Amino acid sequence: MSYDSNNIFARILRGEIPCKKICEDDYSLAFFDINPKAPVHALVIPKGAYTSYEDFAANASDAEITGFYRAVGKVAKQLEVTNEGFRIIINSGVNGGQEVPHYHIHILGGHSLGPMLSHKS
Ligand code: AMP
Repeated sequence: MSYDSNNIFARILRGEIPCKKICEDDYSLAFFDINPKAPVHALVIPKGAYTSYEDFAANASDAEITGFYRAVGKVAKQLEVTNEGFRIIINSGVNGGQEVPHYHIHILGGHSLGPMLSHKS
């Protein structure tokens, strides 16, 4: 899939639409999800143009990968969810339910999140 430079997170990165910013550094931007699924629901996105987890893992530089994942840990600490626990979710592609085609990590916490998933075969 080629990168759509008009996706909503690309527009947030360019400052064309606002976000409720948590923090930002050279490699990442963190902001609150507009439709929270838990008392704490943040998104962390890399600054580079990567469509998905697999695109980021394959094509980002070592510095981008290290910088991004360190930032995710810092955001979780800043949101004070690390003591009680939290969940990271990465949705990828159609089966993963990915809506926005710019790689991102969800950080969810603030109460018990229950079982990971339910599965009916
Ligand atoms: P995903 O399904 O993993 O692609 O998640 C995309 C997430 O982006 C959803 O949880 C949306 O609520 C969230 N979202 C969409 N637009 C915005 C926005 N403008 N600001 C903050 N979060 C957004």
